[in-house]
Amino acid sequence: MDLRFTDAAPDAAERAAVDDLLGPPPSGWEGGTGRSDADLRWARGGASAAKDRRDQLLPALHAVNDRVGWISEGALNYICRRLTVAPAEAYGVATFYAMFSVRPRPAKVLHVCTDLACAARGSAALRAELTDRMGSPGSPADGTVWQESPCLGLCERAPAALLLRAGQDPARDGQDPAPAGADGSRRAAVVAPATAAALVTAARAPEKAPQEPPATAAVPQAGDPALVLLRRIGVVDPASLDDYRARGGYAALRRAFALGPSGVVREVLDAGLVGRGGAAFPTGRKWQATAQQADGPHYLVCNADESEPGTFKDRVLMEGDPYALVEAMTIAGFAIGAHHGYVYLRGEYPRAYECLSHAVASARTRGLLGPDVLGQGYAFDIEIRRGAGAYICGEETAIFNSIEGQRGEPRSKPPFPVEKGLFGKPTAVNNVETLVNVLPILEHGAAAYAATGTGTSTGTKLFCVSGQVDRPGVYELPFGASLRELLVLAGPPERLRAVLLGGAAGGFVRPDELDVPLTFEGTRAAGTTLGSGVVLVLDESVELPRVLLRIAEFFRDESCGQCVPCRVGTVRQEEALHRIVDRTGAGAADDIALMREVGQAMRDASICGLGQTAWNAVESAIDRLGVYK
Ligand code: SF4
Repeated sequence: MDLRFTDAAPDAAERAAVDDLLGPPPSGWEGGTGRSDADLRWARGGASAAKDRRDQLLPALHAVNDRVGWISEGALNYICRRLTVAPAEAYGVATFYAMFSVRPRPAKVLHVCTDLACAARGSAALRAELTDRMGSPGSPADGTVWQESPCLGLCERAPAALLLRAGQDPARDGQDPAPAGADGSRRAAVVAPATAAALVTAARAPEKAPQEPPATAAVPQAGDPALVLLRRIGVVDPASLDDYRARGGYAALRRAFALGPSGVVREVLDAGLVGRGGAAFPTGRKWQATAQQADGPHYLVCNADESEPGTFKDRVLMEGDPYALVEAMTIAGFAIGAHHGYVYLRGEYPRAYECLSHAVASARTRGLLGPDVLGQGYAFDIEIRRGAGAYICGEETAIFNSIEGQRGEPRSKPPFPVEKGLFGKPTAVNNVETLVNVLPILEHGAAAYAATGTGTSTGTKLFCVSGQVDRPGVYELPFGASLRELLVLAGPPERLRAVLLGGAAGGFVRPDELDVPLTFEGTRAAGTTLGSGVVLVLDESVELPRVLLRIAEFFRDESCGQCVPCRVGTVRQEEALHRIVDRTGAGAADDIALMREVGQAMRDASICGLGQTAWNAVESAIDRLGVYK
């Protein structure tokens, strides 16, 4: 595709997709017909209104991709015209995301997961059979193309696949998103656990694919009275605001209004809540620092882009109890002085998008979002922005760039988001699980909350257990429970080889180390990490060198490439692992030494956590599991 304006014009469907999002073009400059007052304003230099809409670039690309299945030169030209974005920049954004294509492809795209949990449950054999039936990945056949995908966040039902179908959706146009379970149009079909036969059937007729099980199927402990964060999953109707309120919903927000913003921050500080995304930064301090900034407006961003392979807890929370997130975000916004919150949601989570969109719309209708929340004179609203398949967009500053319509590349820090975040304004970023923890803190008080867990890891933690266990799913345990206790709940394999804690950026634990306490400090002392709560269980049938190769391939693929240690280091790491995949001892020594050097350089000199942690799991497999001995 050329990087300058060409004569390529959008077809009717592409134009309609963009206009449905942005409204009809108000001027000839934006692609309308005839000269208008707006054009004359342009002539006087009034371009800022269009430039201010750069943040609509990603939604506009989604709109075309959803309607047509790919983004043509004509569509891109039209989007550039509407938003006053240079074509080269828009092309750079469109090609940044794995879910978009700038080349023609069929309307149906079948994403088949190749990542760790699915690999442990037979995805290689599944893909081999699928190749026999549907051709190689990337080769269109019968109106569908299938492609290999990184983790789809469906690890409890591995091996998993997601079918997305482009096209106009007359049933939905102009309406609020349908509630959970009412997805009659089947724009998306999840097939998990997948068989080749089921995937072929779903590819032919997505509407005939079996309905997904409810979110509660992912929670083996559902109904247990000891649950805190998961207590409503499987109990509450996720599509009913009344049911949510009948089960204690919005009591926390009422208490927040009674305490006032600084009182809420005080409670969260006293509760000892720390972020659940992996960094474990104190949430109260983040909120306090954001609230104190004189610059404005302040923003709240909910990081719902959980892309760490093996992580799916936030999906289960959003699908099973979406109003909890809406309420928690309202409290967070109140505490930091924000009136606008964004949820940055994984593009691979269509059902979570439906559930959350419905919850936001209902809350708005009932005065729980909008200009006067609960009649308390506080204005707050939530906008959901979909990601489009980029692991790096789970990094907090990459989210800002993505929402702003730039490539989702991390920014250098400082300045930190609490000072200059989204749109250059003070911003607090919290992930879904962190935010949902605020509800029990306000409902029962900081002291009651901090009574659970340990002194430095308070409350409960969600764990995503996948791999070779009898009962994979999301588990909730108090901080301080041991890995052994968790595995007993999930049903461990007879011949355990290793447990990967923290996902691709985490570390391995041996079978003789299962008494490690599941706390931030406990896992750190044991030389591993809790990360975002991934617990991938591997038995002795797994070929660990191939697991490591997949991890390295993942990081090489997901590196945004803007800094050399990560861009080059992840390639060198993968090359070395390829060379030694069948070697041990002296035959692997040189490449292991090389990887240590490369790994150290990535750790020391990468801009963001991806490069800094890309060597962690491989290093721990070498040093703790003796994989190449
Ligand atoms: S460390 Fe990797 S992912 Fe992070 S900014 Fe650098 S190149 Fe991008």
